[in-house]
Parts: sequence; C-alpha cells; structure tokens
Amino acid sequence: MKIKYQKDMVFHISKDFMPLLGACIDDAHPNEATGLLFGNIKQFKVGDDYQYHYYVRRFECVESSHKSPIAFLLNNDEFLFEMVYNIEQVEGFKVIGIFHSHPSGLYPSSVDHYYMQLFYESGILKFKHLIWIIMDSQNKDAKAFLLYEGDLTEIVLAID
Ligand SMILES: [Zn+2]
Repeated sequence: MKIKYQKDMVFHISKDFMPLLGACIDDAHPNEATGLLFGNIKQFKVGDDYQYHYYVRRFECVESSHKSPIAFLLNNDEFLFEMVYNIEQVEGFKVIGIFHSHPSGLYPSSVDHYYMQLFYESGILKFKHLIWIIMDSQNKDAKAFLLYEGDLTEIVLAID
C-alpha cells in the first residue's frame, strides 16, 4: 500500500503521556489496546502554506475484553459518542486522535484502513479528520496517520 507523507501536520504528544499509553497497552495484554486522545488543534500560516498542530491534553484508555478492542470501540457508536460528548462538554477538549497498539509493526492494517474510510465517509466532521496513532506493543514506537483527501497519509508525530 502506498502511503503519502504530510509534513505540515504535526501531532504532539507530551512525554508525560507516554507512560499512560504504555500502561494502557500493558493492561490490555494479551489483547491489543485502544483509547482516545483529546486536546486542541492550532493552525499556523507559514509562507503560503498552513500547518496544523495537534496537542494532546487528555488520554482515555478504553478497557475491553474484546480481542480486537479497536473494532469494539468503533462498532459501539453509543459508547464512543458518549465518551466524546462528555469530555468535550466537561473539559472542553475535542477528540483529535484514536490510539491503538499492534503486536508488531506500525502501519495501518487492512482492517484499520477500512475503519479509517468508514469514519472519513461518515459525514461526522469531528471523526473525518481523526488522527490514528499506532503503537508497537513491544518497543512502544509509534506513528501517526490519517486519510488526507482520501489517501492514506503519515504525518509528523512529535513526542515533546
Ligand atoms: Zn491496527
């Protein structure tokens, strides 16, 4: 699968969040982990271009005994909408990313790609541009992706 690269989009995760993501993975073991990332997005004009910077302010690990927790999460609209609505209302953070782990490998699987497309085409604006963070359960490396103009695109992941 051909993956494009977009350097004008940067997803920032503070170092402080990394242990939370790691704990989410360890707690889910031997299943894969999933969770939602909340925060804000800033737009900067650089020359003639725009850069979009995402900042994580809150991480919510989703506990599930399901073998594929990401499928569980994305198939349970009610649960997903309620969590997103509560955090937006109470804390004022938007949902900006969806996190899940892979036993190894950092690239979206065909199942991931299917869900990315489903969300992209859902007509729900807040889910259209969600950034997908995929983390290797073993070495805890991570990458960030989205569908950009319909194409699978990797963006910059900055652990600050
Ligand atoms: Zn995956």
